[in-house]
Amino acid sequence: MAAMRMNRKGTQVVETRTAPEALVTWKAPHCPFLIEYTARTAEQLRLAAADAFFSLPRGGAEIGGVLLGAFEKGRLRILRHVPLDCEHAFGPSFTLSPKDHALLAELLAASRRSAGDAQPVGWYHSHTRSDVFLSVADLEIHDRYFPENWQVALVLRPYSLEHVQGGFFFRQADRSIQGAGPPQEFSADPAEPFPVEADAPPEPKAQAMAAAAVPAPITVLTPVEPSPPAPQPVAADPLLEIRVTPRETSAGSSRAYWLAALLAAAAIVAAIGYEARGRESAALANENAQLRQRDNDLRSEVSRLRSELERQTALNRKLQQDSEAEKQKRKRSQGFAFDPLL
Ligand SMILES: [Zn+2]
Repeated sequence: MAAMRMNRKGTQVVETRTAPEALVTWKAPHCPFLIEYTARTAEQLRLAAADAFFSLPRGGAEIGGVLLGAFEKGRLRILRHVPLDCEHAFGPSFTLSPKDHALLAELLAASRRSAGDAQPVGWYHSHTRSDVFLSVADLEIHDRYFPENWQVALVLRPYSLEHVQGGFFFRQADRSIQGAGPPQEFSADPAEPFPVEADAPPEPKAQAMAAAAVPAPITVLTPVEPSPPAPQPVAADPLLEIRVTPRETSAGSSRAYWLAALLAAAAIVAAIGYEARGRESAALANENAQLRQRDNDLRSEVSRLRSELERQTALNRKLQQDSEAEKQKRKRSQGFAFDPLL
């Protein structure tokens, strides 16, 4: 919903926010179909990727799952996602074990069985140690489980809680796979607000967020060498010489969006009146406060986990030193006992 307020100079400014169910359009000029996803899905995926990123020191864990939605009339709509509980048998990367493969197949079968509007339209996974691209293993997953020409792969690259980039990959007519434009900021609140509005009732966001906030359990992972670069990676933006940041990419179209947002806001303001606006602003402020609180909670959880991990590591080191000292002592005493010269 758009809301008007006065800034310090007394000029009216527009604030817009994407409603959770509103569809956000991925800017992909080369993709033969339109990719859309709900703001809620974007936010949940962003948080899931960022949470896992902070769940382990030095790069965190990678996550993945299935994207559910619909494809019709040249529009791919991503409405929901189902995480795949990867057992991380090969370390923190999203590399599927035979068990994970079976789980993915079962998950896809179950989604297809469940009659409803949401069918598997692709999959997502995060890269915490590499760029937004599809590795050879990723391409195998895509071809094996998502063979339709309209099924997509989404790669998320978390940098911080707020900064998560994403890139969609789609099949061209000749079945070759191409990145749908350069990586863009993956967020329910893109660099410039979309005036797409859906009059959805306020969301019980807290519950979904609480679920997303549960940090990934710290499983003991054997240290894994970063996987070697894939021989034939599919770059996310083969058509662009220079990688540009999403803000720069979208600067041109943002003026039109702003104009549309202004007009929409003016109409809404005229219709609803001052009192409604007040209520809406209060709701927005409240939601903002909740989001800020959640970010703070996550941050403190992350630092708590970090120090816990440090404590455990120190303890392990101490135990190792102790047992080493014990061994040495034993060796010395044995040497003493059996040394015929002494
Ligand atoms: Zn990958």
